[in-house]
Amino acid sequence: MKMKKISSELQGAKSIAVGGHVRPDGDCVCSVMALYRYLKKELPQAEIDMYLEEPPATFHVLEGIEEIKSEFNTDKSYDVFIALDCNDERLGDALSIFRRARKRINIDHHISNTGSGDINIVEPERSSTAELLYDLMEPELVDTEIAKAIYIGIAHDTGVFRYSNTSPHTLQIAAELLKFGFDFSSLIEETFFEKTYVQTQIMGRAILESVRFMDDRCIVSMVSRRMMEFYQVGPKDLDGIVNQLQGVRGVDCAIFMYETGTLEYKVSMRSNGLVDVSKVAVKFGGGGHVRAAGCTMNGTYHDNINNLSHEIAAQLKKEQK
Ligand code: AMP
Ligand code: MN
Ligand code: MN
Repeated sequence: MKMKKISSELQGAKSIAVGGHVRPDGDCVCSVMALYRYLKKELPQAEIDMYLEEPPATFHVLEGIEEIKSEFNTDKSYDVFIALDCNDERLGDALSIFRRARKRINIDHHISNTGSGDINIVEPERSSTAELLYDLMEPELVDTEIAKAIYIGIAHDTGVFRYSNTSPHTLQIAAELLKFGFDFSSLIEETFFEKTYVQTQIMGRAILESVRFMDDRCIVSMVSRRMMEFYQVGPKDLDGIVNQLQGVRGVDCAIFMYETGTLEYKVSMRSNGLVDVSKVAVKFGGGGHVRAAGCTMNGTYHDNINNLSHEIAAQLKKEQK
């Protein structure tokens, strides 16, 4: 696949900022890190900065992760801001830095992203932003640390090459990356599978309290702020719960939410493809992909379930026709 490279958009740039979405996941953290290292090699004279909320601790396997800036109160204006794995709405407090930049580039793979930069490279058929980024890089500049970051990013968004977003091209890239010889097995174990004791406990609790509805085709569970306080966990510790719920036999759509404020919940949805959860999430101001999407909702837990199931039921009904 011959693609235009990212360098063609950066001519003359003396300062570049790279950022990603709030509550950054593996693809987001790794894409930011990979592009940062790449730009430092490609444009050694330019000033390159990364802006991102503090990543989960397990990403300390990536060299240079401490260079991420998680304070956004700067009045700097960059020549270029590259937003990764999201549109401008999900940049959080980095949004003002993005808006001030002279040139805004948006690189993403979310189907719900209509493009929020001056230049938009949005390819929904890509497994991950990391995969897309790899094709935008000059191969001779990719080193072991960049390869490692791209590999972990792809692995996270494909559920370790398991989800249907994994294409032959995804695996071709993964094969090229493995040639760098890093210890992919421990990296995936440490960043993707391994959980702390409390993370495992709260996952167990959420699964135990899950409820099926709509003829057992949907499943839902919730973690309250009180539960999070009890187990001493934060939002970053809840990753993987919704996937576990989606793994229940017979379930077409899984919903997981956790309380973020008074009558406010962060909602994650997963589906086997029968329901387009991105469409459901977009209705409530969020977005994502057909099989994985999210949004933030206001209201009681039960009101939110009602509103979501209304949308899900409409889709399942259409599908039955
Ligand atoms: P999550 O369940 O939060 O892990 O998100 C699943 C997928 O939906 C990921 O690809 C997210 O990037 C995306 N997503 C989650 N929340 C939102 C949102 N509020 N707006 C747009 N995309 C989202
Ligand atoms: Mn992401
Ligand atoms: Mn992604």
